Amino acid sequence: KKLTFHAKENMLLMALASSLVVGVILGCMLRLLASPFSEKQQVYLQFPGEILMNMLKLLILPLIVSSLISGMISLDSAASGRMVVRAVCYYLCSMMLAVILGIILVVTIRPGDRARETTGDASSHDDQTELHGDTGDTFLDLIRQLFPDNIIQACFSKKVTKLILADGEKTNGTDAGNSKGAEYKRKLVQEDGINMLGLVVFSLALGVAINRMGQAGRPLKDFVKALADATMLIVNAVIWYSPVGILFLVAGQIVGLEDAGKSLQQLGLYMLTVILGLLIHSAGVLPLIYFLLVRKNPYRFMYGVLQAMVTALGTSSSSATIPVTMRNLQENNGLDPRVISFVIPVGATINMDGTALYEAVATIFIGQLNGLQLSLGKVITICITATAAAIGAAGVPQAGLVTMVIVLESVGFPTSGIAMVLAVDWMLDRIRTVVNVLGDAYGAGIVNHFSEDQADNLSMSDQVPLTTD
Ligand code: ASP
Repeated sequence: KKLTFHAKENMLLMALASSLVVGVILGCMLRLLASPFSEKQQVYLQFPGEILMNMLKLLILPLIVSSLISGMISLDSAASGRMVVRAVCYYLCSMMLAVILGIILVVTIRPGDRARETTGDASSHDDQTELHGDTGDTFLDLIRQLFPDNIIQACFSKKVTKLILADGEKTNGTDAGNSKGAEYKRKLVQEDGINMLGLVVFSLALGVAINRMGQAGRPLKDFVKALADATMLIVNAVIWYSPVGILFLVAGQIVGLEDAGKSLQQLGLYMLTVILGLLIHSAGVLPLIYFLLVRKNPYRFMYGVLQAMVTALGTSSSSATIPVTMRNLQENNGLDPRVISFVIPVGATINMDGTALYEAVATIFIGQLNGLQLSLGKVITICITATAAAIGAAGVPQAGLVTMVIVLESVGFPTSGIAMVLAVDWMLDRIRTVVNVLGDAYGAGIVNHFSEDQADNLSMSDQVPLTTD
């Protein structure tokens, strides 16, 4: 029976990996044969992918609420307190490490200085941006999210911001060299999403309360447990559709790309710096931390969450990937469902190693491109604000690009620089989302390890599985 399970999982992984490759090939072929594609045609092409995104997002709410409540019912408050503290410590440390790594790389490789040497000074860039950000506001916003005033509204009305180019404006975001007088018009749009942190806090409180009620809380306990199991069954079904969705998401993305020749010339080194940083962090730093703390093979752990990593690459969203990450950690890596149900939803919302690294690199790149000085004070400011900006970014496509305003403003770099890096952000977004998801997964592995000690075992004895057999 076990063999069948592994064979099935491997088949799914193969299907997911092939969907990426076939998606790229299909996208390239369509570009060659049928270009230019109208926006409508692109929407049709991406339609199966849009359905996948909807299905994954649909599952997040019942999945996290039911599994968190049922998890907390069987965990005493001291054990859950320890789990929360461990998770938050991990989130902060791993993001700080990512930022420091990014800064070291971008200061050493100097992609912006080199681009400026070859294409001229960009400091004359028109700053017509209307974007503003503030670290203080981001922090208050985070706390505000923890305490929603209306639980029903929290399920669908958390506003997340997105950066788009204004309608009809075609801006060459990479044209930093001769950008004088170029029209940069952007606006922030508000979108509906889930207030994940608010729901997590509410579910934690409800779980602990039901736990205290003892026998009287039994009906609620049975209800949430059954709901968690039923939702996981739907996840198991949806996951088999994900290769199809990812294939069309990727193909649609490639078909819709602007001509990338010039961007690559000017942003090539910058992209390489970001990708190198993300690679070192995900294949070196995170596995090393995991190995040092848990003393188990970190790459075997990574193999267990490969499906989630591919889904992150295909969807560009750590939130949409939550159901797959939770399933992988439980079924392939054997983690305690109670740890998973807390660390993953919260991690997908605030723990973004890839985004933190990216924000630091992009900010310093924009500074270099504009010939601006980077003092030690500014480096320290970037360390703090890039972490805050990553925490503040929602787990949706390109959210990190918006919160970068905070980092740029904190060191007085032009926020219009965001337009310069916009052209290649779709790709960097996908890759940093993979690192965000991997960071959450390792976090769950580490917190799980420490929760397995004697004291917690006593209070974590009555395990509630997320899945049914
Ligand atoms: N797309 C990223 C995520 O969902 C966030 C970002 O960096 O834009 O994790």
